Amino acid sequence: MTVPLLALDGVRKSFAQRRGGAAVQAVAGVSLNLAAGETLGLVGETGCGKSTLARLALRLLEPSGGRILFDGQDITTAGPAALLAIRRRMQAVFQDPLASLNPRMRIADILAEPFRVHRTTPRGGAAARIAELLAFVGLEGIDTRRLPAQFSGGQLQRIAIARALALEPALIVADEPTSALDPSVQAQIVNLLLHVQRARGIAYLLISHDLEVVGHVADRIAVMYLGVIVELAPTGHLLREAWHPYAQALLSAAPTLAARRDRSWQRILLGGDLPNPADAPSGCRFHPRCPIAREACRREVPELRPVGSQGRYVACHLAPAETAVLGAAIGRGRRGGARMQAREGTT
Ligand code: SF4
Repeated sequence: MTVPLLALDGVRKSFAQRRGGAAVQAVAGVSLNLAAGETLGLVGETGCGKSTLARLALRLLEPSGGRILFDGQDITTAGPAALLAIRRRMQAVFQDPLASLNPRMRIADILAEPFRVHRTTPRGGAAARIAELLAFVGLEGIDTRRLPAQFSGGQLQRIAIARALALEPALIVADEPTSALDPSVQAQIVNLLLHVQRARGIAYLLISHDLEVVGHVADRIAVMYLGVIVELAPTGHLLREAWHPYAQALLSAAPTLAARRDRSWQRILLGGDLPNPADAPSGCRFHPRCPIAREACRREVPELRPVGSQGRYVACHLAPAETAVLGAAIGRGRRGGARMQAREGTT
């Protein structure tokens, strides 16, 4: 059996609250695998725990429970030396490049830092490798004596990607890598990420609230709600026919251009806000906002279970038997040209 590049096994993370309130369970038992060279998109609304999960995967945060394995090695128990060696192979690109790059360091020093930290000298020397990295991300010939503040957001994100590539990692965790950028620059960065993957075979864990970006880049998509994965499917399947009511609401809230032109497009309106993770609802965490919730949904926790033979998983008592028709209508509607009769939220 092939060992996944990254495996999360029942990972949990709770944060204690000030003044002794109930702990906030940001990640409530997530199991996911990522293969070498694969892109797994992780989507969900703000506050669902996806950025916490990204930091756990990199072990920038200590999990409260569960295991994280990188290439079969348990990184939750790895000591500093083992962790340093693993970090060489797993890198991160964050949302705000200006905040993630040291504002007082010159670009040349920022790009040389990974070699210094990992005590390695690239073949041909650091200067040649930095020039090669910059050319690879489309910044050939920039003045590397300048400081980050002297570059645009798009240029800085290219520099952040170049730094992430310096040590030739097997995995990049990209947390909202385009959301702080102008729309015109976003597409360039998405295309750069695709170019990097094709050229270097790197795996991505791509965290985003933007379904268009994830749908364009990811091989599979995991949908997260209030600290748990509610649906996991190959990208084409999820976009064509989401089965979980929350995944359906997310898709209906992000129509494609074709769907926006179609006047029959109808968004599923969810009632209420994301509940407080310190006081998560009983049973299915989505039940207070679910348009089709039943009494049993308040009591029984739906497990993320495999359905069918296409690598799909869903955590809903009623899926797909009672959700597939609406999921297919949303999928057709997003592609445009088909009428969608979406239910509206009832709570
Ligand atoms: Fe809705 Fe029940 Fe499915 Fe949860 S388990 S998504 S409440 S139908």
